[in-house]
Amino acid sequence: MKEHGETDGPGLENRRVKGRHNYPSKHVDPENFLENDDVTRLLGAGEKILQDDARKIFNCVHCNECGTSHDRALLARKFIESGCTFEGRDEMEQNFKSNDTPYQDNKMRIRPPPGIPERSDRLFFMGCLSTIKLPRFTEHALGYLMARGVDFTILGTEACCGYPAYAAGLFGEYERVKAKNAAIFGRYKEVVCLCPACYFLFTSDYPKLPTRFTYVSEYLAPPARKRDGSVSVQHMCQLQNRGHPEVSDQTNQLLAAAGYEVEDVPHWCCGGGKGYMYRTDVIDKIAETRMADFTGDYMTTMCPGCFWIMKVYGMKCKAQPRLKDIFELLL
Ligand code: SF4
Repeated sequence: MKEHGETDGPGLENRRVKGRHNYPSKHVDPENFLENDDVTRLLGAGEKILQDDARKIFNCVHCNECGTSHDRALLARKFIESGCTFEGRDEMEQNFKSNDTPYQDNKMRIRPPPGIPERSDRLFFMGCLSTIKLPRFTEHALGYLMARGVDFTILGTEACCGYPAYAAGLFGEYERVKAKNAAIFGRYKEVVCLCPACYFLFTSDYPKLPTRFTYVSEYLAPPARKRDGSVSVQHMCQLQNRGHPEVSDQTNQLLAAAGYEVEDVPHWCCGGGKGYMYRTDVIDKIAETRMADFTGDYMTTMCPGCFWIMKVYGMKCKAQPRLKDIFELLL
């Protein structure tokens, strides 16, 4: 378990924000922070969960910096199964039941570039945040893969991977969309994920399939023509803190090889780990704190969750760097 000031390994101390707790939810709401030991205790069979525990249980944006985000999802499940609730729970559950997403519909808003094959062994799974809330970001990713000559297909309609339901403790809906997606994924040799939260669930909690799951970062390469300008990168807690820290360095190296000057921005969560739900005050504070860290000409990410935060709070906080998704920077 990492405590404030401790690091994951050589060199990482330089990647931390001085004077700021590494755990974002502890930094912005220390009074309602559950330490890992508290989580273990509350999950114990004899421990009762009360409605009054809500603000503490949901004081978490699932960055997994503390290494216990899965336990915190199980604690949210215990909270729900104890008959407790949180503001927005009914709406989220109803949206999942009606639309297979946390949103009021499941209509994709993207205009896919022409030429995507109807059939392929490789499925590009974009995710509901990407296709419904971030159509331009997603169109850039699709255009990028097409320009790189990657053979892939997409679905006409996607069900959410289930992460928002999982994080909210709504495991009935999570298990339902999981089974639905797994039945589809079994038809493909490879599923490439645009969203790292989808990738995490598919590789850690979905049924084992012969299908290979990959993250879109594997398909990125420096552009033929050199670029210039300086860029701050929001790396992905969903990968960095869940077994794939190498992707952060690879992304920096890729941008440098493309010609960009990569700003030295220590890693910290952006607040977008589980979607915009219930303890939005915590998300607001983390996101607003994070926006001040970005410097240079551009700020970028390849994660739709981070991109949504950077888009909304970058405008609200008048962030100086211009937001460009990584596909746009590399195309
Ligand atoms: S997962 Fe991240 S946001 Fe959640 S409690 Fe742990 S450190 Fe805080």
